[in-house]
Order: sequence, then C-alpha cells, then structure tokens
Amino acid sequence: MSSASDVPLFMQVMSSAHAIASKAGMIIRDIMKAGDLGVVLKNQREDDPQTEADRKAQRCIVSSLQTRFPGITVIGEEDLIESATDLIEMGDSEDVLSKACPDSLKSVSLADIVVWVDPVDGTKEYTQGFLDHVTVLIGVAVNGESVGGVIHQPYYNYQVPDSKMGRTMWGVVGLGCFGFTHKQLPESERVITTTRSHGTQAVQETIDAMCPTEILRVGGAGHKVLLCLEGTASAYIFASPGCKKWDTCAPEALLKAAGGTLTDVHGNKYRYEKDIKRMNTGGVIATYRSHDFYLSKVPQSIKDALPA
Ligand code: AMP
Ligand code: MG
Ligand code: MG
Repeated sequence: MSSASDVPLFMQVMSSAHAIASKAGMIIRDIMKAGDLGVVLKNQREDDPQTEADRKAQRCIVSSLQTRFPGITVIGEEDLIESATDLIEMGDSEDVLSKACPDSLKSVSLADIVVWVDPVDGTKEYTQGFLDHVTVLIGVAVNGESVGGVIHQPYYNYQVPDSKMGRTMWGVVGLGCFGFTHKQLPESERVITTTRSHGTQAVQETIDAMCPTEILRVGGAGHKVLLCLEGTASAYIFASPGCKKWDTCAPEALLKAAGGTLTDVHGNKYRYEKDIKRMNTGGVIATYRSHDFYLSKVPQSIKDALPA
C-alpha cells in the first residue's frame, strides 16, 4: 500500500474522507439498530428533522478531518460546536492512494481547500425507513470549485441477503469516478428524478415542461445523482431553493468526474468558497448528458422566481 505521506495533499484528503465516510456509515447504522433516533425538528419544521445520526456522524467527520489536517476548513450541515475525540477515524483508502493525482491538483495547499459535509443526506427518509436513499456526503472544493467527492451509501444492499452492506463511491475531476459501474439510459428514455419530501408547485411545473417518460421521487441529493450516474435516471430536477452547498458539493464532483454537469436552473455553476451563501437559491439541474435540453425547458416564470 502507498504511504499517505508520499501522495499530494489533495489525495490525502480524499483518502481520509473515504475512510471517514465508512465510519460515519457505521455510526448511522448503529443508531438505527439501537432504535432511538433522537429526532429534533430544525426550524420547527416537520420536513427538516435532525437525528442523533446526523449529530454523531458530523462530529465524527469534522473531528477526524481536523485532527488529521490541522487548520483545514470544514463546513458541516449541523450546527455543532463540540468535537469528538472518541469518534476519530485516522485510516486511509488504498483505492484512493493507488490512483495518480491529476496534475492540476498536485500543488493544492490546505488554504485552497474547503470541505463540505452532509453527515446524513436524506434524513427525512432515514426516519421513515427508506434506507437506501440515505448517503454520507463529503465534498472537497479547491479555490471555490467542487473537484472531489465521496458518497457513502450505508444501506446499499440492505435488502439483499448474504451481501456486504454499504458502499463508498468517489470521484475527482480529471481522474474519474470509482466504486460503481457508470451507465447511462438510452436517449429515448427521459426519466426524471426529484424530491419526495420537499416538492413544490414550481418543481412539478418544471418537470412537466420536460415531458418525462417517468418520474422517480426519491430522497437525498446524493442518491439522486447516483441514479443519474448508474443509468436509472436521465436528470435530477429541483426548481426550488432548499438544497445547500453540502448537498451538492460531493455529488457535483462525482458527476463532473464522469463527464456530467450540475448547475442552477439558469445554467450557472455553484461555487464553494467558505463564505459563500449556504442555500442553492437557483435550484438544481443535474445531468449526465443533454444538460442544455433540460435547461431550455425550465419555464421563464420559474427562472424569474429563482435568483441565481
Ligand atoms: P430532497 O430531494 O428533498 O431529499 O432534498 C435534497 C437535500 O436538500 C436534502 O438534504 C434536503 O434536506 C435538502 N432540502 C431540499 N429542500 C428542502 C427544504 N425545503 N427544506 C429543507 N431542506 C431541504
Ligand atoms: Mg442533505
Ligand atoms: Mg443532512
């Protein structure tokens, strides 16, 4: 196995994020197994719950990254201040360390990096038992652009007897994506995936304008981008504010690493500097191909209502 200290910092961060995401997945499964989710409502809203899994997985991810890379900027979804010395993961991923760092990322320094963390993406679905919708998202932005991402799916295969539960997918722009088989739907099928718990009239109106052959309403930004990458969906459409930078940073990196695109409804790329607003106010259009087609179908009235 390569030693982590021999590889460029960016790949060390990716390797660490890969190992940490699996540990966070174990935490998420253990809390569900123990049976007390400890749900509190954020902003007093039923559709924005936080569980002990969100809290504990975030403490694990943030504390682990900050211990391994002192001074690194990590922005997590949950508002927590205490760190967690008992949850620290210092391991590496042999898969990540065995790959060559793209030239463009070889000289990245700690000050160039912002890590965006969604400890549990699809929390609403986690509380409702739609377990394969749940992912752990660790996105690595360099100079404001999403370039690296880890998506861990703790309940992958949970309904398949005698199989290993959980999987970790990762990608780096300029290198590719790994941990799954990339497929695409035939162009004749237009399968749109969208939210199942944060729907609005504008979301529906936008999807209708795209004349889908099928609509898949599932939880999680990470899960929906995986459906696009694995050839189950053609596009992930969400013409509404609601998704935040920690929802899109990691999925965007995997999508771009595979040759796809994630923008707002105007076609603008999101940026990921540490002071950027958290909310993706312009919505999300994510595709593997035909991005311009989906953008062209967004009704003007909806574009006008969604600031860039
Ligand atoms: P969904 O597609 O509904 O699973 O949303 C993807 C991500 O964006 C999840 O992390 C959601 O919590 C978040 N999200 C989307 N819309 C909203 C909303 N209206 N309020 C709070 N979070 C939202
Ligand atoms: Mg999320
Ligand atoms: Mg979350």
